[in-house]
Amino acid sequence: MEENRYCRKCLLKDFDEEKYQSLIKKELDWMDEEMKAPETEYDKRLSICSGCDKLSAGTCLACGCFVELRAAAKIAACPKKKW
Ligand code: SF4
Repeated sequence: MEENRYCRKCLLKDFDEEKYQSLIKKELDWMDEEMKAPETEYDKRLSICSGCDKLSAGTCLACGCFVELRAAAKIAACPKKKW
């Protein structure tokens, strides 16, 4: 039986490590450190996304982005002004 790799209220890293590595981690590794939000801010943003009703399987339904990428950019903002 195939493993269930879908979780509507989860970040990608929490339910699909393979997709996280290929879509998110790779981009984060390429991103200029000066462009990134500080780690504490990144974690805070993702914590807010994790409790948000717009989160759907790692994607924000308000903007269509992977939240783990959107939250990483220092200048990014939540489309619903939650962070
Ligand atoms: S609306 Fe904001 S808090 Fe909610 S998932 Fe999207 S980016 Fe995260």
